[in-house]
Amino acid sequence: MVKVFTINIDMPTFDNIKRVHVELTDKCNAECPMCVRRVWGGVLRPVIQNIELNLDYFKLLDDDFISNVEYWMLCGVKGDPIACTELFEICEYLLSKNPQTEISIRTNGGFRSTDWWTQLGNLFVGTNCEVMFGIDGLEDTNHLYRKNVKWNKLWDNVMAYNSTGAKTSWQYLVFEHNQHQVDEAKVLASKYNINLFVQEPFGFAEQEGNKIQPINVYNREGEYIYNIWPANLEEERKGVLEPGEGIPNAGEVDNSIHWMDVNKGDYNVSCKIGNEADDLYIDGSGAIMPCCYLGASIGYDDDNQIQEIFRDLNSFIPSKTNTLSDILSNTFFTKTLLNGISGDLSTKPVYIGKCLETCGMCADSR
Ligand code: SF4
Ligand code: SF4
Repeated sequence: MVKVFTINIDMPTFDNIKRVHVELTDKCNAECPMCVRRVWGGVLRPVIQNIELNLDYFKLLDDDFISNVEYWMLCGVKGDPIACTELFEICEYLLSKNPQTEISIRTNGGFRSTDWWTQLGNLFVGTNCEVMFGIDGLEDTNHLYRKNVKWNKLWDNVMAYNSTGAKTSWQYLVFEHNQHQVDEAKVLASKYNINLFVQEPFGFAEQEGNKIQPINVYNREGEYIYNIWPANLEEERKGVLEPGEGIPNAGEVDNSIHWMDVNKGDYNVSCKIGNEADDLYIDGSGAIMPCCYLGASIGYDDDNQIQEIFRDLNSFIPSKTNTLSDILSNTFFTKTLLNGISGDLSTKPVYIGKCLETCGMCADSR
């Protein structure tokens, strides 16, 4: 079979960045089992540094750049934006530079006071901004996935924000344990003029025999507490995952070796930047990254290639002497990334493995 190679990428430049995804912090009050912060909701991963961006960081970014951005998604990969101390001040600043901009805060909602939430609602009302609360069920079920979120606090916060008239959305991940409450959630959402999005969660792995394995949930000491299942799964399709199974020790896995023997042309990579992914990603350290898929991999010891590419992480963080424009013109953005997508890196793996994993399709499968 003839191997075909295509590249589809519109690299971010200073002027064409309209949508920016920001991880304001890697802190969070919750312990969701599928989140990268903790090992299945249990032991905190070493990659978490309890860091956050502040208003001064955004003031470092060029005014023209900020005014040009039409959409800010404040959504952590490793943390929740409401744990960022200066979240309100940052939103106020972004809106002052472009009152038409759309800010979307994605949060579990279980942190901060009702006064703070009212203040945020008053800032957002009449603008294009919204808060999307991640609430997976109701009072007796939300905490099974959003572990450690206290229902009363969360709902008081939602009401304090929503009562200002500001745009409110609700993302509801549907599992076996909360599927019976979707209709009740619809009634509640309609009562308060909340946009409800019921979505299937990712992360349930398939096993042999068309079975699905559960997500095992652990406590902070790493002890198994319970498991959760996808919605509408027949009993006979329920697989088995013993407690402790599938949890690698730190440093045990190096995913980059999976891609070591892949040759140029074996894959087609359709880069998601500007489509499914925003135009730029900023992580909790302030590092400027092309997308959250690469950004989320930094600091893990399961992919040595990525750690090597971003070894000098400071050079991706803006400062007075290293501006955003400088970063977007550095060797990584202008050469390594393009070569890593096209399979032209000079050392193996010839592709950036994370790009293949996220956006690649085996050419022979076309
Ligand atoms: S709320 Fe978000 S950041 Fe916090 S643990 Fe859950 S998925 Fe992770
Ligand atoms: S993982 Fe690579 S190919 Fe995919 S969106 Fe990010 S930069 Fe593009």
